[in-house]
Amino acid sequence: MNQNTPNGSPLLPDNVSLAEQKQAILASIIATSDDAIISKTLDGIINSWNPAAERMFGHTEAEAVGKHISLIIPHDRLGEEDIIIGNISRGRKVDHFETVRMTKNGDMIPISVTISPITDNSGRVIGASKIARDISIYKRVNEKQGMLAAIVDGSDDTIVSKTLDGIITSWNKAAERMFGYTEQEIIGKHISLIIPPERIREEAFIIGEIFNGRRVDHFQTIRQAKDGRQIPLSITVSPIVDGNGNIIGASKIARDISEHLSAQEEKARLFEQVKALNDKKDEFIGLASHELKTPLTSINGYLQLLSSLITDEKGKRFVDKTRQQVKKLNALVSDLLDVSSIEAGKLRFTEERFDIVQVIENVIELFAHSNNNYHIKLETDITELYINGDAHRIEQVLNNLLTNAIRYAPGSNQIIITLGREKNDVKIGVRDFGVGIAPEKLKQIFSRFYRVDETNPNVSGTGIGLYLSKEVITRHNGKIWAESEPGVGSTFWLTLPLEK
Ligand code: ADP
Repeated sequence: MNQNTPNGSPLLPDNVSLAEQKQAILASIIATSDDAIISKTLDGIINSWNPAAERMFGHTEAEAVGKHISLIIPHDRLGEEDIIIGNISRGRKVDHFETVRMTKNGDMIPISVTISPITDNSGRVIGASKIARDISIYKRVNEKQGMLAAIVDGSDDTIVSKTLDGIITSWNKAAERMFGYTEQEIIGKHISLIIPPERIREEAFIIGEIFNGRRVDHFQTIRQAKDGRQIPLSITVSPIVDGNGNIIGASKIARDISEHLSAQEEKARLFEQVKALNDKKDEFIGLASHELKTPLTSINGYLQLLSSLITDEKGKRFVDKTRQQVKKLNALVSDLLDVSSIEAGKLRFTEERFDIVQVIENVIELFAHSNNNYHIKLETDITELYINGDAHRIEQVLNNLLTNAIRYAPGSNQIIITLGREKNDVKIGVRDFGVGIAPEKLKQIFSRFYRVDETNPNVSGTGIGLYLSKEVITRHNGKIWAESEPGVGSTFWLTLPLEK
């Protein structure tokens, strides 16, 4: 029977015997093998040397045949040859013996070698054939794998891998520490072993993402240890891809975030504590102002009576001065009461239709009366403009702005108020020529109790006026803000929606 090539032509001529054909095929296999195939006598003299041996060890066939096999054995391994020959002489094969051999230029290569006895027709061992495979690549892969395994095992993060069906395929030391299951116990088990029952649906989501080649990043969840302990974790799950690009499983890196969580919980607890204290303080301010209000009202009443009874000029002046101070005290207490109402969400507004021009004119008149060296000018050509809201509260805002415009402009006696329409709003500006406000402070001046330290250390105040003003204006669906240039002056702007 002839060996045919795929196109049908005979591999060897017909007149070649079967034995010869077999010989030729074997020769061709040896010549094309990737493994080095060498044969030698029992004395160790090389008598055949295939091309792979040439490539592996660097000696050509001509150079190697006839030489002793020690040609490729490192000095420190020469003893191995005696053991091998000992085995072969007794007809025993040496299988997958891992050793090191030397190339022509002195390099050492790790090989796996199988040595079999060669027998003659009578069955006598006459030599040895040696098939050697260069295993440096496996060695390197092994070393790399060993290194990776050491990294994974040494990691403080839990690293686990599983198949797409959820069967655990690897489990590092940190996973053992975290969950209490040993590697032997858990490999081959289903991942649901560490998932609390109420979270089992998460697994379907994670596997769904992995199946589509997506990574699940920093997923915060809870897993369960062997002793039932619930552990808050942040996990990152990535697909495991085989050499052909198929997703065959998932690797999971988990980090215990209980400490992180407890820091967060501690922060939340402190925040609650501060908030509770703050609420207590607001409650006290509200209560105290309320208690102050009653005696103040009666002091005011009695002073009024006293003023009408006293005929002596000096006495009248003193009573008037006392009444002015009581008025200031009363305003302060009212402001404090308002602050506590805002904080408690209880600041109430009345709603009426009123002419804003009229309100501005009233405020100006009142100010001109008590500050007669001041020029407060209203610049507008509008004579009346109606809005809906609490006229008394709007008046309070304008009062605050004018008080500040006087208070923080010690060297000036001029204030300009502008009034205009802008779309559906009225826009009012209160401009002074005072100390001004640094740009970085402008946003803060509307905060509760905030005062700009350097404005004027001698000017008394509470830091309530602008906070109240902002509340009043925003509750009217308007806006309030300031523009200022230190040393030049400030303009406080507000807008309020016009009546519809
Ligand atoms: P108070 O005037 O009682 O301190 P406000 O809430 O009315 O409280 O004002 C807050 C801070 O804003 C003031 O302390 C002051 O530093 C600054 N400020 C307000 N109005 C002016 C202004 N017209 N010019 C300069 N600074 C001002």
